[in-house]
Amino acid sequence: MPKPADMHQHLRRGALLHLVAPMVARRFSKAIVMPNTVPPITTYEMVRQYLLEIKLATNSEYRSGKPDFWPLMTMYLTDTLEPHELRAGLDQKLVFGVKYYPRGLTTNSDSGIADPASLWSKGTKPYAVLRELADYNAVLLLHAADGFATDLWNNEGRFYGPGEELDPWDQEPHFICNTLPRIREAHPDLKISVEHLSTAIGADWLRTHGGDTLGCSLTAQHLLLDRRDVFRQGFRPHRFWWPIIQSSEHKEELCKLVAEGHPFVWLGSDSAPHPVGKKETDCCSGGVLMAHAGIELFLEAFEDIGCLHKLEDFACVNGPRFYDLKPSDLYITLVREEWSVAEAFYAEDMSEESGGLDKVVPFRLGESIRWKLVD
Ligand SMILES: [Zn+2]
Repeated sequence: MPKPADMHQHLRRGALLHLVAPMVARRFSKAIVMPNTVPPITTYEMVRQYLLEIKLATNSEYRSGKPDFWPLMTMYLTDTLEPHELRAGLDQKLVFGVKYYPRGLTTNSDSGIADPASLWSKGTKPYAVLRELADYNAVLLLHAADGFATDLWNNEGRFYGPGEELDPWDQEPHFICNTLPRIREAHPDLKISVEHLSTAIGADWLRTHGGDTLGCSLTAQHLLLDRRDVFRQGFRPHRFWWPIIQSSEHKEELCKLVAEGHPFVWLGSDSAPHPVGKKETDCCSGGVLMAHAGIELFLEAFEDIGCLHKLEDFACVNGPRFYDLKPSDLYITLVREEWSVAEAFYAEDMSEESGGLDKVVPFRLGESIRWKLVD
C-alpha cells in the first residue's frame, strides 16, 4: 500500500522520542505531531527545536530531495498562545494546526483551555488564534471532551445540572452536543478535525456535518475494543485511553462510519506511550504505545469490519487532503502473517517524562497481531 499518514501521533521527547519515532517513520510518510509535551509547544522557536529533535530521532532519508518521513507540527492552544507565534509557524509552513485540550482532562493538559467559551468569545486570545488559523486555512484539532455540563443536559436518560461533573463516558457526547456547534457557529470558515472520535453521537454528527471544513480522525483501538475489553476480570491499564473506550454500540457505529468510506474520516493512531510507572499506578495515565504496530492494527480492524478495500483512502488520502497535502508516492509492504508482541520496550533515560522507570508496555503485549510489516 502507499505509505500512509498518521494524523494523530504523540512522539514525546528525549529517550521516548528516540524509541518511538523510528517505528513511526518506518510505517508512515507523515505524522501530525501532538504538542502536549513537557513543556507544551507554544512558540515558534519551540516548534523549530522539537522538529530538529524529531528529524535527528528519525534519521529520515532524503530520496530525490524529499524526506521519507515528514513531521507535521502543531501548537498547543493555551489561554495565552500568541497569534504571532502561530503566524510565524504557518508562514514557514512548519505548523499545520493548533490542538485544543480541555484543561485537566487528558495527559499534560494542565495548560489547556480553562473555559471552552473563550473559543467563541470575541476579544479572547484563543478566539484570535482561531481566526488566524482560518485565515491560513490551517486546522483546529479538537480533543472533543468537556469536564462539566454547561447547561441542563440529558444524555440518554442521564441528567446533568449546570456545572455538574460529567461521567467520563459522557464527556465526548456533551462536547459534540453543546460545545462543537458553538465553535462551528462562531467560525464557519475554520477547518476543524475532531480527534479520536469515540462515540455513536459523534459518528452521527460527522455523518450529518462532515465535509470540507469538518472531519475526524479514528484510532484502531476504538475500532477494535469495547469497554468489556478494558474491564474483563479487572481494570486493564494498558487498554486505557482518553477518550475512554465506549460500549459495543458505540464501537459498532464507528465501524459503520469507516465502512461507509466518507472522505472526511481518516487515520489517527493516537499512539501515546507512557513509562510503565505512569500506567500501573494509583492514577493511570491515558494512552498506550501503538506505534510498534501503527498500521498493522488498522489492517486488522478493517479486515474484521470487512472493508479492507476502504483502507487506502482512510489511511493515505483523506487526512492529507484535509491538510492540503498530497498522498505519499512511497510504498510499504504488509503480509498477512501472525506475529506476537513478545516484549516490552525500554528507553535508556526517560527522566523528562517518567517516574524514573524506563519500561514501555506496547498494546497487545503477550498477544498476537495478524498483519506484519516486511522490510
Ligand atoms: Zn492524543
